[in-house]
Amino acid sequence: MSIELSGPPSLDDAAKLLTALQASLGSLSGPDASEQLARATALAAQVDAYRVALVATIKASEVWRDSDPNGTPASFLRREHVMDHRQAKADLRTANAFSRFPELEQACQEGLVSRAKVDTILSIGLRTTHRDAALSEFMSIFVDLAQRVTITDLKHTLTLWANQIDPIPDTPGDDAAHARRELHIRQLGDGFKLDGFFGPDQGMKIMVAINAALDLHRCEHPDAKDTAKAQRAQAEHGNYRITNSTAAQRADAFIDVIIDPALESGALPTSGGAPANICVTIPFERLANPQSRPSNSNLKARLIDGSLRLFAATLRTTNGPGEIAISTTRAQQLSCDASVQRILLTPAGKPLDIGRRTRTIPEQLRTALTLRDGGCAFPFCDKPPGWTEGHHIQHWSQGGPTSLDNLVLLCSRHHHQVHSQRIPIALDADGIPRVITEHRHSARL
Ligand SMILES: [Zn+2]
Ligand SMILES: [Zn+2]
Repeated sequence: MSIELSGPPSLDDAAKLLTALQASLGSLSGPDASEQLARATALAAQVDAYRVALVATIKASEVWRDSDPNGTPASFLRREHVMDHRQAKADLRTANAFSRFPELEQACQEGLVSRAKVDTILSIGLRTTHRDAALSEFMSIFVDLAQRVTITDLKHTLTLWANQIDPIPDTPGDDAAHARRELHIRQLGDGFKLDGFFGPDQGMKIMVAINAALDLHRCEHPDAKDTAKAQRAQAEHGNYRITNSTAAQRADAFIDVIIDPALESGALPTSGGAPANICVTIPFERLANPQSRPSNSNLKARLIDGSLRLFAATLRTTNGPGEIAISTTRAQQLSCDASVQRILLTPAGKPLDIGRRTRTIPEQLRTALTLRDGGCAFPFCDKPPGWTEGHHIQHWSQGGPTSLDNLVLLCSRHHHQVHSQRIPIALDADGIPRVITEHRHSARL
């Protein structure tokens, strides 16, 4: 295939070439595509350099005065080229900078430095008068760096440089970043998503607390640290995941070491006398009979009168907005060993009898469990008693007694697993609990 240039070079030829390249994409191998990707990236930088040169020509030609005597180059770009203010300013700034810093222009023209990196250098490098005055002296170093590192690393280095260049009282970065602080907790269909931004000092507090929490968490979770043991356990219980990913470990550490102690400390303000906590609501009939469901006509009536939420298993906060539907299985697990306030509802959803808050498992029984189980009873888990919850082998709502031979200690993760995978547990002749794995053998440390 050959491309004939008809007359002086024009962008039509470049567009024809790109169309031909698009058409031949199907015959590219992976390695060829990778090579083409590098060349296309370089070409994009060259095209951007050409764009900026066109902007410089427009500015110098004063064509922007033709249609509007009060116009400016920026207003011309906004109107004629449908740019927003920010983009027009960035193009003009780059056009201006290319005449000041020829090495930056050349690197872009040769496809060595992308337009995004050029913008990074200029937006940080020209932000204050001190930086602006110093930038030309450092430009060749930044151009060289931009060819070797990612845009994130380039930004990091430029910020460090800017901190050295700006006189201390003039450094606006920290305060501007602090002013942008925000924390959003978004409720999604099946959980919550945290999304936030913090300035340097608040952000570092979070980092140091999470680091400490992770350290503590790793000490308390020997299986996460001891990979040989974890692998052995995995080999014997193939279907049980022993190791967590780092992000999941961070999430666990955040809850176990930072949030739980805060909730349990009693230091958080109460709301109308109720401690800040979560409560589980579930109609007793669903807890006792998880397989049962209301008749369709019943369901329709509840949908119409808006009372359906009273019949769902939910988690609610005791001190403000926050309510999320959970599965009956999860509600069962949470009510296995909790301080439960029984609120009996009439079939119309009206509270009938409000019982006292009682701990499901009395203190003496918990001590006996601690002596018998010594910690989580799940095979190969050695979380200490302080990190465990009492599990009713047969749930109390289904008539299971709160007695030594119907209870077993499980850590939070294994308690979750036992409920969600319906893993059976039985006491052997000596009264020792055995978790019955799918391999049909029981194991216990
Ligand atoms: Zn349980
Ligand atoms: Zn465990």
